[in-house]
Amino acid sequence: MNIETKTVHAGSHADPASGAVIPPIVLSSTYQRGSDGSYESGYKYSRHNNPNRLAFEQCLCELEGGKAAAAFASGSAAAMGVFLALKPGDHIIAPAGMYHGVALQLRTIMSNWNLQTSFVNTTNLDEVKSAIKSNTRLIFIETPSNPMMDVTDIAGISEIAKKVGIKTLCDSTFGTPVLQQPFKFGIDLILHATTKYLGGHSDLIGGIIISREEDEFFTRIKEIQTLGGGVPSPFDCYLALRGIRTLALRMQKHSENAMAVAEFLESHPDVESVFYPGLKSNSGHSLAKSQMSAFGGMIAFKVKDGKEKAFKIASKVKIFTRATSLGGTESLIEHRASMEGANPVSPDNLLRLSIGLENANDLIEDLNFALK
Ligand code: PLP
Repeated sequence: MNIETKTVHAGSHADPASGAVIPPIVLSSTYQRGSDGSYESGYKYSRHNNPNRLAFEQCLCELEGGKAAAAFASGSAAAMGVFLALKPGDHIIAPAGMYHGVALQLRTIMSNWNLQTSFVNTTNLDEVKSAIKSNTRLIFIETPSNPMMDVTDIAGISEIAKKVGIKTLCDSTFGTPVLQQPFKFGIDLILHATTKYLGGHSDLIGGIIISREEDEFFTRIKEIQTLGGGVPSPFDCYLALRGIRTLALRMQKHSENAMAVAEFLESHPDVESVFYPGLKSNSGHSLAKSQMSAFGGMIAFKVKDGKEKAFKIASKVKIFTRATSLGGTESLIEHRASMEGANPVSPDNLLRLSIGLENANDLIEDLNFALK
């Protein structure tokens, strides 16, 4: 079955009680037990499980081709669910250019817990190999990365890790299951911040881990989900599932629009450089082409004349909204470094764009005006 069909139907079934084609949102926190004390419905308490969460998790398993999934209250909580499934004293390898919030989580919270992290350039497989230690348990990659759109060789990383029995995780938030399927390249775990493209409408916060195998490591992640309790609400699971129904169409349009905007920016004299893997000039272009079906909706670009010019451009746009986050229907523009806090990943003259579903010519006109 093709991905467009799967996004429409995965995890879907009519409600057996009412026949409703779209199953209801089940708000109950608790479930009735049988007279013998059994849990006849299979549910006992909503922190443990819930029909909307189960449908959402089953949907992602089908889309990614995984065996099991655990939904969390945010993408960050999903990442932490994986880190907590490791043990104090374990070592992980993570991208130097990863999403700053998860990097900060590793640097502050998880380091106090004695989880050791080496931040390396994961686009360079030799650097990854050299960073492996006897206590390395996980290689975490994010491709394309936020915000510099670095492309990491998913199959290359899987191969290195498999040889030495290390687990791998791919944060595939920018790719989504429509554009990139990391299990096909040998990855063990996939992370999505469902806040972004899967939800798709900037109206929920959520995250999910999908596992290729229902193994001991995943069982620990599941324990952290249910005992730790950082779970998404039934309504957020419903919204995420609703968003996924249009994901294939949206990713196609996000990608087409972003390609047009990236090409415009690349040709503009006031733009220093553009980071979009769809551009032939991008160092990750051929790799991205080999592991993605299109290049997604995120672009970063550096402007000539530094930070002040970048702020000026962001202040002049009319269609783009100045806001953080990404993956919604509306286009967003962000001066990234000023959002990233004390040790920003982004250069000062960098603007990040989340390209929405508007007409590409309108977006280009808006940027052209702001750049003048
Ligand atoms: N992973 C990536 C690539 C992200 O861009 C983000 C947030 O921007 C996250 C994870 C964290 O997601 P959340 O904000 O839902 O915690």
